[in-house]
Amino acid sequence: MIQKIVSKNFDIADSHTLKVAQANGRYTSLDTLFSMSAKEVVNEVGKSGLRGKGGGGASAGDKWNLIPNPSDKPTYLIINADESEPGTFKDRQILEFDPHLLIEGIICSSYAINAHHAYIYIRGEYVFWAKRMQEAIDEAYAAGILGAKILDHDYALDITLHRGAGAYICGEKTALLESLEGKRGHPRLKPKGKEPEWFYGCPAVVNNVETIASVPYIIKEGYEAYRAFGTKQSPGTMLFGMSGHVEHPGIYEIPFGVGMLDFINQVGKGVKDGRKLKAIIPGGSSCAVLRGDEIEDITLDYESLKQHGSSLGTGGMILMDDTVFMPSVVKNLFEFYHHESCGQCTPCREGVGWSDKLMGKILDGHGTKKDLDTLISLSDVLNGKTICVFAPSVAFIIDSYISKFKDEFYSLVK
Ligand code: SF4
Repeated sequence: MIQKIVSKNFDIADSHTLKVAQANGRYTSLDTLFSMSAKEVVNEVGKSGLRGKGGGGASAGDKWNLIPNPSDKPTYLIINADESEPGTFKDRQILEFDPHLLIEGIICSSYAINAHHAYIYIRGEYVFWAKRMQEAIDEAYAAGILGAKILDHDYALDITLHRGAGAYICGEKTALLESLEGKRGHPRLKPKGKEPEWFYGCPAVVNNVETIASVPYIIKEGYEAYRAFGTKQSPGTMLFGMSGHVEHPGIYEIPFGVGMLDFINQVGKGVKDGRKLKAIIPGGSSCAVLRGDEIEDITLDYESLKQHGSSLGTGGMILMDDTVFMPSVVKNLFEFYHHESCGQCTPCREGVGWSDKLMGKILDGHGTKKDLDTLISLSDVLNGKTICVFAPSVAFIIDSYISKFKDEFYSLVK
């Protein structure tokens, strides 16, 4: 079940150092890369079906194709390492154990979109991981892997590591770009048609760490090798997390399409202490919750999770056993989202705050049925009326938890 592509070197001692990384295959895709044209690289990645692994699942090739070619302005590659979704801690494995894989992926991807400067925007709290990533960047410069000539090839690339201040919303790509431009990290209004992201008025691609770390394999082995794993619509592999009430929590790379229950039982060794699985958040806290008895037919890919009313998200699964009281989970989530709303949109700023207050009142035993009805009605206020999908994520929490664990919520109100 385990299939290591990006995690291949994780267990090797000192895998983060250039010497060990090179001895274990890092930077070997670059000869193939520089024998191809930029367009050929974009096509290869497009044909591989590589999808964004930061939550959205958009096709990487489609995104790269939005960059004008030729362009009269510089283009930029921006790596989203602002991993802040509760339950999600996969990208930091790459930053910690194989930062040179990320650099190699950045070189391949920047070459494809004709970028000569890439930025890594890293979560503020990732102090250790920022230091480790910077050390790898410094090593790569010293070895001539970055800078004016990449390993003597006629291609120049600089990488700048930028530390965020620790705001969850800066993981949303347009808020990230605002922040990187030195402004408040507020999401931008989406354009109507398809266009690239814009960074200081120049076209840019924003991709997640794991997505970019998957590119060297595709370049070196070819798109068909990548497509040999996973499903037709969700090809390749992904780092899935398991946390909460599971015997063997951790990060595991598996091909898309594996049964969720098989993954929990075979890799995670089942629910902790042999208890019953009550609920599972499949891919980070902003995904709709699933009941333990709903997951039998679910496979770990974008399509299956969607069909079952949730989403794959970041692949950060959180398991909850039968001791967990769902209203407490919801209160905990509301506190988080209340704290992290950027405050631009009234429905989000006010709606998430009121959801948190109402849930607190209900949980404290002072709530009425009317309060619960008001809370349920707030879902409609939060859904589809805001600049970004933060508020709709809170609506999913209201809808999914209250409808699936109705008795627990109604047992609290008079
Ligand atoms: S939905 Fe919330 S987080 Fe997103 S832009 Fe509006 S206020 Fe900010």
